[in-house]
Amino acid sequence: MTDSPRGEVDYETVTRPKASAAVPTRTCVGCRRKGARSELLRVAMVGDELVPDLPARLPGRGAWVHLEQDCLALAVRRRALPRALRVSGPLDVTAVEEQIEVLTTVHLGSGSKKP
Ligand SMILES: [Zn+2]
Repeated sequence: MTDSPRGEVDYETVTRPKASAAVPTRTCVGCRRKGARSELLRVAMVGDELVPDLPARLPGRGAWVHLEQDCLALAVRRRALPRALRVSGPLDVTAVEEQIEVLTTVHLGSGSKKP
């Protein structure tokens, strides 16, 4: 009798569908390029304010922008955010700017090695 519990695990791995096919992509309103959902930040309107929607759970319209100040700046210059969010007038992107700043700083600082 050979009863190996590992056999089950192997079988499951083999029959599993490719995970890459299920990765959701979003289009950045700044550079208009597509990226994995994890690479972009959702922004949405709460009242009259544009806010970063990190968990992407806010109801209503949302727009996606890369976690890069350049992309946010591009989106502002193109007035892509008010268009995507169906609002009029310029939007204050300070909160989003700060969120990107925080996220990119954390990302860069995650490595303990510094040159
Ligand atoms: Zn972008």
